Amino acid sequence: MVMSLLSLFFPPHCPYCGVLIDSGHECASCRRQFPDGIYGRRLSDQTICVAPFRYDGPVQKNILLMKKDGQHIRFDSLAEQMARVVQQFGIVPDVVTDVPMYWLSKWQRGYNQSEELARRTAKRCGCPYEPLLKKCRKSKVQHTLNAEQRHTNVQGIYAARSPQKIQGRHILLVDDVCTTGSTMEVCTALLRQNGAESITCVAAAIAGENDTYYLMSPEQAAQHLFPR
Ligand SMILES: [Zn+2]
Repeated sequence: MVMSLLSLFFPPHCPYCGVLIDSGHECASCRRQFPDGIYGRRLSDQTICVAPFRYDGPVQKNILLMKKDGQHIRFDSLAEQMARVVQQFGIVPDVVTDVPMYWLSKWQRGYNQSEELARRTAKRCGCPYEPLLKKCRKSKVQHTLNAEQRHTNVQGIYAARSPQKIQGRHILLVDDVCTTGSTMEVCTALLRQNGAESITCVAAAIAGENDTYYLMSPEQAAQHLFPR
C-alpha cells in the first residue's frame, strides 16, 4: 500500500537509463542488454567470486548512485541479477552475509549498500541473511590505492561477530563491487578461520583488468567450468 502510494507520487525510473517504468526494476530495453552469462574471478585464496555485470557504463552509474541515494529500485534490480548468477552457478548457501561497514559510516550514510544487496539476494535465493562479520574501524578510501596498498589497508579491521554462527556453514559473501578482491579475501579468511564449510562470493559487478576475470555462459557455469 505504502509502496503503491509512493509510486503514484514518485513513479519509478529505470536505474540505468532513467526512463519512466510501469513495472519491474528496469526498463525492457536495458534489461535486453543485460549480459546472459556470469562474470567470475578466482581470488588469490582460490575463492570464487561471481557477478552479473562488469563495472562500467550504466551499471557503474547505477552503483555509484546507489551509494548516494539508496533508492530501492537500484538494489532490487542488481540483487535480482545477483540471485540469478548464484543460482546459475549452482551455489546453495546456508546463509548470506555482507562485507560490513564501520558502524559510524553506516549511520552517516543511513545504510550499508552491501547489506541491502545481501538481504535482497538472500530473499531471492530462499535462505537467511545474517550479519556474520563486523568492521572495527574505518579504513582509508580504497579507490585511490594500488592493489598492494589495498591489501594492507584492509588487514586487521574486520572481525567475526559470532564464530558459532559461521562454523560448518556454506556461506555466500556479498559485496557491491569486486575490484581487486582484497576486501573479500580478508573477509573470507575470517570466515574460514572461524570454521566456515565453504565460501563463495557474489558482487553486483566485477571491476579491474580484463584478464583478471572471465565471462562464463550459463551452461559453463552450470557445469562449474570455471576457467583457471
Ligand atoms: Zn533503462
